[in-house]
Amino acid sequence: MDLTPSREAALARLATFLPAAGRRYAETRNADDGPAVGGRGNVSQLSPWLHAGVIGESEVLEAVLSVHSPRAAEKFIAEVFWRIYFKGYLEQRPAIWDDYCSGRDGALAAMEANAGLRKAYTEAVEGRTGIEAFDVWAKELVETGYLHNHARMWFASIWIFTLKLDWRLGADVFLRHLMDADAASNTLSWRWVAGLHTKGKHYLARADNIARYTSGRPGGALAAAGLAGDEAEPLSEPQDYARRKLDLPPPVSAADFAQPFALLLHDEAAHHAPLALPATPALLIGAARPEARSPAAPGPHALTFARGALAGGMAEAAAAFGCPAVEWRASEPLAPLLAAAGVERVALPYLPTGWTRDALWPDLAPLAAEGRVTSLLGDIDRATWPLAKAGFFGVAKAIDGLLAECGIRGDG
Ligand SMILES: Cc1cc2nc3c(=O)[nH]c(=O)nc-3n(C[C@H](O)[C@H](O)[C@H](O)COP(=O)(O)OP(=O)(O)OC[C@H]3O[C@@H](n4cnc5c(N)ncnc54)[C@H](O)[C@@H]3O)c2cc1C
Repeated sequence: MDLTPSREAALARLATFLPAAGRRYAETRNADDGPAVGGRGNVSQLSPWLHAGVIGESEVLEAVLSVHSPRAAEKFIAEVFWRIYFKGYLEQRPAIWDDYCSGRDGALAAMEANAGLRKAYTEAVEGRTGIEAFDVWAKELVETGYLHNHARMWFASIWIFTLKLDWRLGADVFLRHLMDADAASNTLSWRWVAGLHTKGKHYLARADNIARYTSGRPGGALAAAGLAGDEAEPLSEPQDYARRKLDLPPPVSAADFAQPFALLLHDEAAHHAPLALPATPALLIGAARPEARSPAAPGPHALTFARGALAGGMAEAAAAFGCPAVEWRASEPLAPLLAAAGVERVALPYLPTGWTRDALWPDLAPLAAEGRVTSLLGDIDRATWPLAKAGFFGVAKAIDGLLAECGIRGDG
């Protein structure tokens, strides 16, 4: 499958997948048939481009509804809203991300000090546990930068409940290798499997379920002997994450862009097309921070996708706007780049909780305090995030209304 990190490749993948986004998706999406040369037929594999902001959720939903009725595409639409829900949930509980980062660092240090733990961890990440299914996915993750959703659930469950490894180490392995690695979807999905997101409700992988949904793999169903049984207890934690009030930037208008401004593209918003910018920037700034996701190095697929998406997005934005483009490197301060171009103001796609924000915000905060930063937040996030207060149900029951509110009808 063509996983080129370009908008052209994202649109081509969307077009190829569209016929399957209706009932076929609902009926077949749970099967992990393995990485086929032409791509998996039953899922979209759009997640790397969605994460990088090369294509937007709204345009994917618009395209799907132009081919399928809302009922036929109900399942696919709901999955796209899971992504938006997780973002909104984490935005209201950023301490979950901070605690994940410090917990991961503590778990990495504990492993360095314990040879037994280090051995178990190394066997898991290198796919040498002896549990066939898990070992296949561990290798597939590194070799392809992608895992099917069901495989992610089984993998995380086996990691936590059978191998009894720290969930934050597993989440870190995913973040380093997945091309779609996303602070919200990844952290909260691992917590969901562990029984920390929906307290006391964990996800236990079962060998018969794995065999059933992997039977379409070229080599046949994957075996998973010796998994933790039903008696495995969900994880628990002492802290309760209170919800903080969302502090969203106001909607923008052309008046906000009356003065010359720089458009800042970053890892999670690498292309200008989904932004619907109402004015032309005087300068483009590109900031790639894929290494900020983990203290350890990102895997080759994740790194190549992230860097390629931003490089391609910058080149296309420079051509579209006819303005100069500069790279903001990780070791450099931002202010001199603006000063050199004689630009005072910065517009940037909203930085959600996660490593991109952690890496970029310290330089942007002083400018924001001076009123020189305009954050762009898409309609669908603005409408959905306030509903991501607790479980997904609060969003699920509002999906029809959210689509209508955002003008997503399939006639665009
Ligand atoms: C332990 C674990 C870790 C995960 N880590 C990530 C991650 O780092 N980044 C990430 O984007 N997704 C993550 N997911 C969610 C999901 O597995 C992927 O989004 C999905 O597999 C991507 O493949 P696809 O594009 O073919 O999805 P499709 O089935 O085609 O779905 C379409 C889109 O909907 C969204 N989506 C689908 N399922 C989910 C879901 N369960 N949660 C959130 N969004 C969803 C994705 O943006 C996806 O591209 C994780 C799930 C688990 C269980």
